[in-house]
Amino acid sequence: METMRNVMLLLGAACTLDAQTYDLLLKGGHVIDPANRIDTVMDVAVSGNRIARVAANIPVSEAKKTVDAAGLYVTPGLIDLHAHVFGYEGSLAPDDSSLIAGTTTVVDAGGSGWRTFDRFKKTVIDTSATRVLALINIVGAGMVGSAAEDNVPDMEPDKTAAKMKQFPDQIVGIKVAHFGKPGWDALKRAVEAGRLSGKPVMVDDKIFTNAARTSRDKLLDVMRPGDLHTHMYNDRQLEVIDRFSGKVQDYMWAARKRGVLFDLGHGAGSFLWPVATRAMAQGFAPDTISTDLHSSSIRAGQPDMPNCISKMMALGMKLQDAIEKSTAAPARAIKRFPEIGTLGEGKVADIAVLRQSKGVFAYKDAWNKKLMGTVNIECVLTVRDGRVVYDLDGLGFPLWNTAGEYEVIP
Ligand SMILES: [Zn+2]
Repeated sequence: METMRNVMLLLGAACTLDAQTYDLLLKGGHVIDPANRIDTVMDVAVSGNRIARVAANIPVSEAKKTVDAAGLYVTPGLIDLHAHVFGYEGSLAPDDSSLIAGTTTVVDAGGSGWRTFDRFKKTVIDTSATRVLALINIVGAGMVGSAAEDNVPDMEPDKTAAKMKQFPDQIVGIKVAHFGKPGWDALKRAVEAGRLSGKPVMVDDKIFTNAARTSRDKLLDVMRPGDLHTHMYNDRQLEVIDRFSGKVQDYMWAARKRGVLFDLGHGAGSFLWPVATRAMAQGFAPDTISTDLHSSSIRAGQPDMPNCISKMMALGMKLQDAIEKSTAAPARAIKRFPEIGTLGEGKVADIAVLRQSKGVFAYKDAWNKKLMGTVNIECVLTVRDGRVVYDLDGLGFPLWNTAGEYEVIP
């Protein structure tokens, strides 16, 4: 009898251990996972580095660690389609700037070219906790100043495409940026690299007098469906709004119809209230939300992903739509959906926990004007690859017990 009781106890203990199926449980948060059409209070369980289960009422007893997410939003880890973490003089360390913002994937927008990508991979991509992907610059030397960026002979589609084929997991497209000479050489070579590699091109273009380039030609003739124009609420790279009528240009609608994508790319100079308010009032929202974070924009408009989401909400975008444009939409744009951008069961556990606050908040644009909003989104917790890498409020921490032991470290 005694033996039987011991066996039962052992079985009981085994069951208790087995019952803790999950390593981490985010409990009671409002889950927004647009890819799976989830927009309600749910629990999210993680095993190892994978999303194990998304369901109502997963018992706390089944998890080794529980985070109380009540009153908060739980979303897929944010994907920043336009950031600078290599090559460019204002590059930031991705783990410093992204993980505190709920951004679990950053796409470096053109810092490296085919000549420098190996160094980028070795020094940043392979050493960061953040998932770092690359839009490789059509310029072989990368984004290293205007002399290099105007150097047409260093824009070699075949060598760029060869580097992309060598690293298909890391290089998701091509960037063409800051070309200061007249004509289409840079864009056309980038598009050719896109054709050779089967990947999209992100365009960051200068339009000014004597460029001999127009927004209409660029969007309707040179760019392909699936290519992206970043800095969409700038007015010098893309003429979104007709200055005489205040209307969104006809060619913008035509470009959207033919599949050209428009990316926010906030940055230090590319988010202007006069453009953004008019475009949003007429229903011309970004396809993807991104920051263009670098050493000066991070201080000027402070456009991390939650800040960009807050700004778009101030212009009337629903939180659910802003999350879609910060998760599934960018993943689709770089052909990495559904590998990233969703909380689907079995996917890598990249998760953002966001707090929505109501009040009065100032949102700054690139011309140092502010627009007052009533809603603010901030990141309070980030899970990357199954690990809690940021926890602003100690949601996963036990309360310190004042009567507790002082742990003396010998
Ligand atoms: Zn940029």
